[in-house]
Amino acid sequence: MLCMCLRALVFSLTRMATIASFIVVTRPDIVTESRTWMCLICGWIYDEAVGDSDHGIAPGTAWADIPLNWACPECGARKEDFEMVQV
Ligand SMILES: [Zn+2]
Repeated sequence: MLCMCLRALVFSLTRMATIASFIVVTRPDIVTESRTWMCLICGWIYDEAVGDSDHGIAPGTAWADIPLNWACPECGARKEDFEMVQV
Protein backbone atom coordinates (compact mmCIF):
# COMPACT_ATOMS: atom_id res chain seq x y z
CA MET A 1 0.00 0.00 0.00
CA LEU A 2 2.64 2.49 1.07
CA CYS A 3 4.88 1.26 -1.71
CA MET A 4 2.18 2.00 -4.27
CA CYS A 5 1.73 5.55 -2.94
CA LEU A 6 5.46 6.24 -3.15
CA ARG A 7 5.59 4.92 -6.67
CA ALA A 8 2.72 7.21 -7.71
CA LEU A 9 4.46 10.15 -6.06
CA VAL A 10 7.74 9.50 -7.87
CA PHE A 11 5.85 9.16 -11.15
CA SER A 12 4.08 12.50 -10.75
CA LEU A 13 7.32 14.22 -9.71
CA THR A 14 9.03 12.86 -12.81
CA ARG A 15 6.23 14.18 -14.97
CA MET A 16 6.40 17.60 -13.31
CA ALA A 17 10.14 17.73 -13.94
CA THR A 18 9.54 16.97 -17.62
CA ILE A 19 7.01 19.77 -17.89
CA ALA A 20 9.21 22.20 -15.95
CA SER A 21 12.20 21.54 -18.19
CA PHE A 22 10.03 22.20 -21.22
CA ILE A 23 8.92 25.55 -19.81
CA VAL A 24 12.54 26.53 -19.14
CA VAL A 25 13.63 25.89 -22.73
CA THR A 26 10.58 27.69 -24.17
CA ARG A 27 11.30 31.29 -24.97
CA PRO A 28 8.17 33.33 -24.20
CA ASP A 29 9.58 36.39 -25.99
CA ILE A 30 9.06 34.73 -29.37
CA VAL A 31 5.44 34.76 -30.50
CA THR A 32 4.52 32.56 -33.44
CA GLU A 33 1.32 31.51 -35.15
CA SER A 34 2.11 27.86 -34.72
CA ARG A 35 1.07 25.99 -31.61
CA THR A 36 2.81 23.36 -29.53
CA TRP A 37 1.28 20.15 -28.24
CA MET A 38 2.57 17.81 -25.57
CA CYS A 39 1.96 14.10 -25.08
CA LEU A 40 0.37 13.52 -21.68
CA ILE A 41 1.93 10.08 -21.45
CA CYS A 42 5.61 10.74 -22.08
CA GLY A 43 6.02 14.50 -22.50
CA TRP A 44 7.00 14.36 -26.18
CA ILE A 45 6.46 17.71 -27.87
CA TYR A 46 4.85 18.32 -31.23
CA ASP A 47 5.61 21.76 -32.65
CA GLU A 48 3.45 22.68 -35.64
CA ALA A 49 6.29 24.76 -37.10
CA VAL A 50 8.67 21.77 -36.98
CA GLY A 51 6.29 18.94 -37.83
CA ASP A 52 7.34 15.30 -37.52
CA SER A 53 9.37 14.58 -40.62
CA ASP A 54 10.30 11.09 -39.39
CA HIS A 55 6.64 10.11 -39.66
CA GLY A 56 5.58 11.97 -42.80
CA ILE A 57 4.32 15.11 -41.08
CA ALA A 58 5.70 18.13 -42.94
CA PRO A 59 6.85 21.28 -41.11
CA GLY A 60 3.97 23.73 -40.71
CA THR A 61 1.34 20.99 -40.42
CA ALA A 62 -1.44 22.12 -38.09
CA TRP A 63 -2.47 19.71 -35.38
CA ALA A 64 -5.95 19.51 -36.89
CA ASP A 65 -4.44 18.22 -40.14
CA ILE A 66 -2.60 15.30 -38.56
CA PRO A 67 -4.31 12.01 -39.41
CA LEU A 68 -6.23 10.25 -36.64
CA ASN A 69 -4.10 7.13 -37.03
CA TRP A 70 -0.95 9.04 -36.15
CA ALA A 71 0.64 8.00 -32.84
CA CYS A 72 3.25 9.50 -30.54
CA PRO A 73 6.73 8.45 -31.75
CA GLU A 74 7.93 8.04 -28.17
CA CYS A 75 5.19 6.03 -26.51
CA GLY A 76 2.62 5.23 -29.20
CA ALA A 77 -0.15 7.30 -27.63
CA ARG A 78 -2.93 8.32 -29.97
CA LYS A 79 -3.78 11.86 -30.98
CA GLU A 80 -6.47 12.04 -28.29
CA ASP A 81 -3.82 11.59 -25.59
CA PHE A 82 -2.14 14.85 -26.52
CA GLU A 83 -2.83 18.20 -24.97
CA MET A 84 -1.98 21.67 -26.22
CA VAL A 85 0.70 23.62 -24.40
CA GLN A 86 0.40 27.37 -24.40
CA VAL A 87 3.59 29.11 -25.45
ZN1 LIG B 1 4.02 9.96 -25.96
